[in-house]
Amino acid sequence: MNKIEQTLSIIKPDAVERNLDKEIKEIFKDKGFNITKEKKIQVSKVEAEQFYKVHETKPFYNDLCAYLSSGPIVVMILEKDNAVLENRELMGATNPKDAKDGTIRKKFGISIDKNSIHGSDSIENAKKEIDFFFKY
Ligand code: UDP
Ligand code: MG
Repeated sequence: MNKIEQTLSIIKPDAVERNLDKEIKEIFKDKGFNITKEKKIQVSKVEAEQFYKVHETKPFYNDLCAYLSSGPIVVMILEKDNAVLENRELMGATNPKDAKDGTIRKKFGISIDKNSIHGSDSIENAKKEIDFFFKY
């Protein structure tokens, strides 16, 4: 059974810098996602560290947080049946080199760190990430 879900998507600094945000949003809309909230913001390093806390023990954590806070990002709530999983499929693999044709990371990703897009990986994390950016 399909179920309407919400997930959090972030167009990362490398993509916003290349003015790809409009084109990426069109891809989501074409695939049937409703963008119910969105904002263009720049997060501080400390906010990036809070957002990516799950990765705090990873070797790439510091660079990842420095990168996410390095320029404007577009944060969106995407809504659709099975949004969490379908968004992960549309994003493609973390490393754009491994991403399948037709995915956002295959099309726009530059490298494993500059991979253009973030998406929540579970319903539980989607709720947390949506609260992080949109609950105030
Ligand atoms: N990342 C990185 N080096 C790695 C693994 C991940 O720079 O070896 C970055 C990459 O930008 C990725 C983010 O850390 O999108 C979060 O990693 P995760 O494993 O959660 O990948 P995702 O869920 O974004 O596909
Ligand atoms: Mg992840």
